[in-house]
Amino acid sequence: MAGIGIIGAGVAGLHLGLLLRQHDIPVTIYSDRTGEQLAGGRLPNTVAHHHTTVRREQALGVDHWDIAEYGYFGHHHYLGGPEPQRFFGAYSAPSRAIDHRIYLPRLLRDFRERGGDFRVRSVRAADVVALSEQHELVVVASGRGDLAGMFPRRTDRSPYDAPQRRLCVGLFDGVAENEPRSVTLSISPGHGEMVEIPLHSFEGPVKALLFEAIPGGDLEVLADARYDDDPAGFERLVRDRLRAHHPTTFERIDHHRFRLTRPLDLLQGALVPTVREDWVRLPNGRYAIALGDAHTVVDPVVGQGANSASYSAWELGHTIIEDPAFDERFCRKVARRRGDRVHAISDWTNLMIRTPPPPHLLDLLGAMAGDQALADEFTENFNYPERQWDVLATPERTRNHLARRGST
Ligand SMILES: Cc1cc2nc3c(=O)[nH]c(=O)nc-3n(C[C@H](O)[C@H](O)[C@H](O)COP(=O)(O)OP(=O)(O)OC[C@H]3O[C@@H](n4cnc5c(N)ncnc54)[C@H](O)[C@@H]3O)c2cc1C
Repeated sequence: MAGIGIIGAGVAGLHLGLLLRQHDIPVTIYSDRTGEQLAGGRLPNTVAHHHTTVRREQALGVDHWDIAEYGYFGHHHYLGGPEPQRFFGAYSAPSRAIDHRIYLPRLLRDFRERGGDFRVRSVRAADVVALSEQHELVVVASGRGDLAGMFPRRTDRSPYDAPQRRLCVGLFDGVAENEPRSVTLSISPGHGEMVEIPLHSFEGPVKALLFEAIPGGDLEVLADARYDDDPAGFERLVRDRLRAHHPTTFERIDHHRFRLTRPLDLLQGALVPTVREDWVRLPNGRYAIALGDAHTVVDPVVGQGANSASYSAWELGHTIIEDPAFDERFCRKVARRRGDRVHAISDWTNLMIRTPPPPHLLDLLGAMAGDQALADEFTENFNYPERQWDVLATPERTRNHLARRGST
């Protein structure tokens, strides 16, 4: 049997494939798209990799974008409302956002150059049993598509059965840097969040503006507006909504230059946050493991899905290297090793998009405005989501955390 079969060439499949190739384990990645098709396609996401992920990239030998040039250093916060607040939180080491249409094809090239087998093929759920006879283990890393349905949804961990935000994200030219170079996290109470990300794309450094619109709010119109029908009207609408809801970004706009970089650099939609079972036993008695978005889908509001996929790939890969006995015990071990972080990511993200926001979350955000150490800790915990969840899991935990920091 030929090593490990991975369905999907996203960050989950590629980080796993590259790790296994470092250990000379035969790997085949199946994907329904070539690297060229991905590079030429619509904006799939606007992903920030935090420094714990950057460290895995360094270990994998795929650290192709110098962090001093491409990295950013923290979060500028804007909390709207009757008394708006602005503050900054710093990372201990930079994050980095590279357009996945550039990033993934480059990693796919690395994978192939390191002896990985890549096959262009659209896999259906019915094909997975046959693949499990050809490989020692099949890993489903096919993203949010239909194949993920092989793994039952966990109702105990999936509190929403509909999207909590409608999304509109585009790459824009004409927004000046907010020094130091950082993400801006802006909250418009009752209407939603906006995440501004300094991102490297085909035109060089651009700004991703990710609108997270609460259904029924004033920003929802952005998720439905049609750029192709009226590009100037669309860009006007974006500026109007920034002025009304996210002023710290609006005030940095150069109105002569502000534009969507290319028609394909826009994504509108919505997703349902979903946690699925870690594995499934196939009719032939073999097992398939879910990885990345096929396992856990989170709203992008705090930029965690790809980081979770990479972490999960790392834990799965090391379990394969240490204990290649692909039985139920193996599956349970994988679930245990990655569970705390992956579930903390999902729980924390689901809390951030709850409407109305829970009071203890507002207490923490408000306290951060007047306490630099608290703001830095919250920001750094984007790398350690289980620590963020230690602080936010219950009102008592948040209260105790603030009391310990002298911030009651
Ligand atoms: C707007 C937006 C912003 C985001 N921002 C962030 C962020 O800042 N930070 C962060 O960490 N995450 C972010 N995310 C989430 C992140 O994009 C995903 O969590 C991550 O890309 C998932 O990676 P994956 O490898 O599991 O899936 P994908 O990247 O979706 O890859 C799936 C792969 O499987 C292939 N495939 C699919 N179906 C089949 C099939 N049937 N047969 C064969 N191949 C198949 C696809 O072609 C693809 O190669 C964001 C998401 C969105 C939408």
